[in-house]
Amino acid sequence: MFELAFLTAHEILDSRARPTLSVTVALAGGRPVRAGVPAGASTGSREAAERRDGDASRFTGQGVLGVVEAVRGEISAALLGRRFADQGEIDRALVELDGTHDKHRLGANAIVGVSMAVARALAEQTAQPLWRSLNPRGVPARLPVPHFNVVNGGAHAANALDFQEFMLAPLGAPSLAEAVRAGAEIYARLRNELAAKGHTVGLGDEGGFAPELTSPEEVCRLLVGAIEAAGYRPGRDGVALALDPAASELYRDGRYHLAGEALTSDELIERYGELVAAFPIWSLEDGLAESDWAGWRQLADRLGDQIQLVGDDILVTNPAIITEAIEQKIANAALIKLNQIGTVSETLEAMRLCRQGGWAQMVSHRSGETEDSFIADLAVGSGCGQLKSGAPARGERVAKYNRLIEIEADHALGYGAR
Ligand code: PGA
Ligand code: ZN
Repeated sequence: MFELAFLTAHEILDSRARPTLSVTVALAGGRPVRAGVPAGASTGSREAAERRDGDASRFTGQGVLGVVEAVRGEISAALLGRRFADQGEIDRALVELDGTHDKHRLGANAIVGVSMAVARALAEQTAQPLWRSLNPRGVPARLPVPHFNVVNGGAHAANALDFQEFMLAPLGAPSLAEAVRAGAEIYARLRNELAAKGHTVGLGDEGGFAPELTSPEEVCRLLVGAIEAAGYRPGRDGVALALDPAASELYRDGRYHLAGEALTSDELIERYGELVAAFPIWSLEDGLAESDWAGWRQLADRLGDQIQLVGDDILVTNPAIITEAIEQKIANAALIKLNQIGTVSETLEAMRLCRQGGWAQMVSHRSGETEDSFIADLAVGSGCGQLKSGAPARGERVAKYNRLIEIEADHALGYGAR
């Protein structure tokens, strides 16, 4: 049993100069710990709803003072002095207090911040590292394959590149530290090659380069070239590629709008088939739009045996949607984002359902991040084997990879995707 002795929140900045929440909690007899709340740009329509002030005179309406007030006032009044058995019980209390299906009344940003801070406080109370206290019984903890988003487009960059993310996945690295080294060395090569070709080496929101390229094939060619130039082998026994086109953002009037073309689901699936045949792509996230379930089923039929198909906007870390998606066999993996569902225990439940259904999972940052490295511990403790946290550059991205390096140095855990 535990009791909260202290709970507060502050408005801080995320990595895109937008306000977000820092939540501080202390258990009775414990010291205060904090959590920083992430925020997305290419959000799924069924995500738990972030709450913002909408006061145009502050931060163009993006302020979160109302959410700060909800934590200090209503949430504190409901939680302080009450005894809870575990994380699940306090998360259920938060969900009930909010009372809406998408957590919009108190704000999913308030709820997830409190839930994350409590998880950290519970780890402290039992003198365990966070990853170990998040580790479900019977599931081996594991260091995940980092997925480095080294070329940014879509909603994360001002360039004309439609696909949002081009990632390096060092699947064949012998350890997490060597995987991080590969990511950083290839990133440095890529910078040189882009500069040599006269491209800008400015960065997108997740720390990847944002060159004025439009063709995904051209980006993949550049990446394979950079992998080789850095002395690594492109492919699953070395460094593979992973794409997140974030196709919901490309979908209008039943067509996918890609570099001036308007493609049907069938045509885009064919394009993916060609990309997978030509390049060492091992994972494709949000290849189709969240509303295009029929397309997703076709994509799973066409490529599900060859590559990992990850649902992000379509699943939004929601246990009920994941259950239906597994039944309908629309993909074979789920992206996992704490703030899409809004509590730590619902996130762990989403991951349990994936394990039970034989689906892979990739823990993910958001485009708007803080220096909080919670997701590194979540990826290790859940044993899921995959984490994406942007480029191996910019403090808020690197904080997660550095936390993994620390965990690997301190504990004998396996490395690799499942
Ligand atoms: P977001 O993008 O954090 O801006 O939603 C990340 C993703 O689509 O995976
Ligand atoms: Zn995504």
